[in-house]
Amino acid sequence: MKVLFINSKEKSFWEEEIDLEGILDLSIFLHLEKYKSYRGDVFSSKNVIVIGTSHLNFPGAQRATVVFRSPLHGGINSATLGGFGEFIKRAGYSAIVIEGKGEDTFLLIKDEKVKFIHLEPSNNIFSVEKKLYAKFKSHYNGIPFRIMLIGSGSKNTNYGCLVSSKPQEIGKVMSVAGRGGVGSVLYKAHGIVGIAIGGKAKFNLDLDASIVKEQMLFTKKYREEGTFLANYLQLKENVISFNGMSTFLPSPERLKLFEKFIKQKLLKDYKFKSETCGEYCIAVCKKLEKDKKVDYECVHANGPFLGIFERKYAVFLAHLVNDLGIDAIYLGYVLGAVFEALSKGLISPSYFELKKSPSLDWKKPTSKINFEVAKELIYKIGLGKIPLLGNNLRQSVKKLKIQDLAIYLPHGKDLDITPPFYWSLGVMLPVVFQGKFFSDYSISFEQPETYAKICAERTIKEYIFDNLSICRFQRGWIEKKFGKESLEKAKNWIKKAWKFKKSAKALPQFWESKRTLELVNNFFKEFGKGEWKEGGIEKLKEYWKTWQKTYLNTLDI
Ligand code: SF4
Repeated sequence: MKVLFINSKEKSFWEEEIDLEGILDLSIFLHLEKYKSYRGDVFSSKNVIVIGTSHLNFPGAQRATVVFRSPLHGGINSATLGGFGEFIKRAGYSAIVIEGKGEDTFLLIKDEKVKFIHLEPSNNIFSVEKKLYAKFKSHYNGIPFRIMLIGSGSKNTNYGCLVSSKPQEIGKVMSVAGRGGVGSVLYKAHGIVGIAIGGKAKFNLDLDASIVKEQMLFTKKYREEGTFLANYLQLKENVISFNGMSTFLPSPERLKLFEKFIKQKLLKDYKFKSETCGEYCIAVCKKLEKDKKVDYECVHANGPFLGIFERKYAVFLAHLVNDLGIDAIYLGYVLGAVFEALSKGLISPSYFELKKSPSLDWKKPTSKINFEVAKELIYKIGLGKIPLLGNNLRQSVKKLKIQDLAIYLPHGKDLDITPPFYWSLGVMLPVVFQGKFFSDYSISFEQPETYAKICAERTIKEYIFDNLSICRFQRGWIEKKFGKESLEKAKNWIKKAWKFKKSAKALPQFWESKRTLELVNNFFKEFGKGEWKEGGIEKLKEYWKTWQKTYLNTLDI
């Protein structure tokens, strides 16, 4: 593959041909062998950012895969940006590697040339995006190009993300490379605020009728409902709300909560129009209501998880979080712990200079007050006014003495990542790439040995999606085409990613905080079978260890 290397400090760039197949393969090789980024500080300029895409030319495989060492969990992390891969191809490359640390720099990449422009992070990504599209129009002179940006959230937290709007729908339809702190690494390790990329290289899409037919069949849920509607209607009483406290309630009570606050309030009169992420994709999974994107994870993090059930409030906050360039899922867990501490009087509102406290009482949710407090805290965190809450959650809750209330998956000595919002064992167990969907995330209980194999199989397949920049919403039709050889190759690279984690002293640890343990224990009590049904710390430990042994064995680790 043709790789463009950029040194942000030297303001230099060069090309290299590297004989590897996918972007995760390339990134693991660079981080483990060339830059040895496991050694230094996570924000050292050796923590290179790799942004690339695959050779595949069907719709749904034009994402950009962005890989880096996560400042949150300390291992290799991939995040993806829908539709951005097309423009890397148009510039004539498979991947871009950013090393060195400059200062407040925007990269303007056209064909094989790179310009370095001064730009500072903004707390309003979408308005900057708009200005930059207008500004660079003449530079690209009719050639298609796309922009990605970080916001002040990347400067002021360790969980900043990358945001890239579909050029025709700036601030409405945006792709977000959210997980792992990618934006924070791009800014704090390299001083890069954003990238525009495009060029005259050939870009052809294969619109083969048989592929389109399969896509049509297997993406129905995304097209007809989108993640917001489909997930809530499927999860029902198993939605995790009120900072995980909903899982203490018996199932009939949770179902009542779902009916009253989610079905009759959050989902009430929901109407949407459908869009794509920028790909020529028949799944049109992005849903817009009144020009604001509505999707499950982002809205849930800013909605029911914080005791907010008015859709307009949750959608407003989700949009704000994107505009500041913060990972909504990570922030959701930060705010969840803080909200519970405030509502129980463990922290005084004056500590964060707030006038009110939110309430996480499920008998009387106070959506409006919670919304106002969340808005204030989000601004303060995004603008760097509460640096403590911009830090890793595991470290900040220890300092605040509210560790019991926080949900996170511990890694190494003081690292962590937060799980996606599913009450599933698969997202809590120590898979190789935690915090994403490299695991099963269904609500089902299996014996640890059986479940470990299910999760390992998912890790391998999900690796291939990100490695080849394929949208995982296409998995229904594409993963059955993966051959034995590609599954074996993926396994081999996953093994190296584990080696990296080990070298970085960032291996996953057994669940640590009280609320995380409670969340898992409640799962065992509700869904567990046989000897596991009663839960308890010793059984949880036994399950974790037995599961991990089989999981690692299955991956030949
Ligand atoms: S399913 Fe959605 S995110 Fe995936 S390629 Fe299609 S439009 Fe983009």
